Amino acid sequence: MRVLSKMPYELSSISQEARLDKNENPYDPPPGMTEELRMALSSIKLNRYPDQEATALRRALSDHSGFPADWITVGNGGDELISYLMTAFIPPGGCLMTLSPSFSGYKHQSRALGVRTSEVPLEYRGGSIFLDREKLIDRLAASSPDLVIIDRPNNPTGLSLPLDLLKEIASLTRGILAVDEAYVEFGGGSFFDVPGELPGNVFVLRTFSKAWGLAGLRVGWGVCRPAVREKIERIRAPFNVGVFPQEAARIALGYSEWMRARVGRISYTRDRFVEEVNRLPGWKAFPSSANFVLLHSLNPKELILKTFRHRGVHARFPAMGPLSEMSGAWVRVGIGLEEEMGRVLEALKDLSAGA
Ligand code: PMP
Repeated sequence: MRVLSKMPYELSSISQEARLDKNENPYDPPPGMTEELRMALSSIKLNRYPDQEATALRRALSDHSGFPADWITVGNGGDELISYLMTAFIPPGGCLMTLSPSFSGYKHQSRALGVRTSEVPLEYRGGSIFLDREKLIDRLAASSPDLVIIDRPNNPTGLSLPLDLLKEIASLTRGILAVDEAYVEFGGGSFFDVPGELPGNVFVLRTFSKAWGLAGLRVGWGVCRPAVREKIERIRAPFNVGVFPQEAARIALGYSEWMRARVGRISYTRDRFVEEVNRLPGWKAFPSSANFVLLHSLNPKELILKTFRHRGVHARFPAMGPLSEMSGAWVRVGIGLEEEMGRVLEALKDLSAGA
């Protein structure tokens, strides 16, 4: 009885929380997909190990991407593939190069593996965040990394570096270039669109967690030439992607039109949100090619946190590398439903009024 009487309160408090701290997709899968997933669950054999080669999923990804199946690797989320890239390509004493700031997972994995990292700073000038191209090229020559990982769009800034710069990095580095396209469906174009063949030292990372709205499934995938894939295959855990995630991701690929429509809606919400924030005194929103937006305010972090909490908004205060030296606070807000973004705007207005 006690449990029952508590339920309505707990449910309503959950629905009022705007969870915008993990860059998740706010939309549920379409009913057709949910039905197919249910049917898949009743027919798959959970007493058996998954197909070690993820044959059906890789074939479907091949149809989806236009690359041969033996260029495709799947992982337990993009996270696992990032860890494999570091293990496969960075020898003891070797070096990883990333942007700073960038996805916190790179630091997490490189620390766990004891990998030395050379970070190229993003800079702030004249109201914009940008990368100094020359600095990156100089650093590439000086630190001679075994692996370069560029998140494009960059998490947490939303910045999408020019494709020709990525191509230049690929041609200049002696190591592997991993282009992390976790958010690519939301804008900025893909490395796949670069004319010519995929260079022999490039690995392009994708995930089902963002645009596809399947973060809980934990499926990521990557495209590279077979010689690179071969090195990853040597260290990959044989059954790294479960029976159901393999099948569910394959089913999801049949709903790419739905995915694109949702991405369009999220991108529209994002662009309107950026405009609205930039009308508020004391707040700045940076243009984003992803499903999140980076904000800056002169309010202290503690006050922002308290105000957001009051409105039931969860956001992320990301590590900003050298940009953290600027006064004020940086906040990364995922793009949720219109109503949720309205709630964020109310919180920002509360803070503007008090400024
Ligand atoms: N790359 C970037 C830039 C990310 O922000 C994330 C997750 N937030 C990932 C990769 C990993 O995503 P997942 O493991 O869910 O595929």
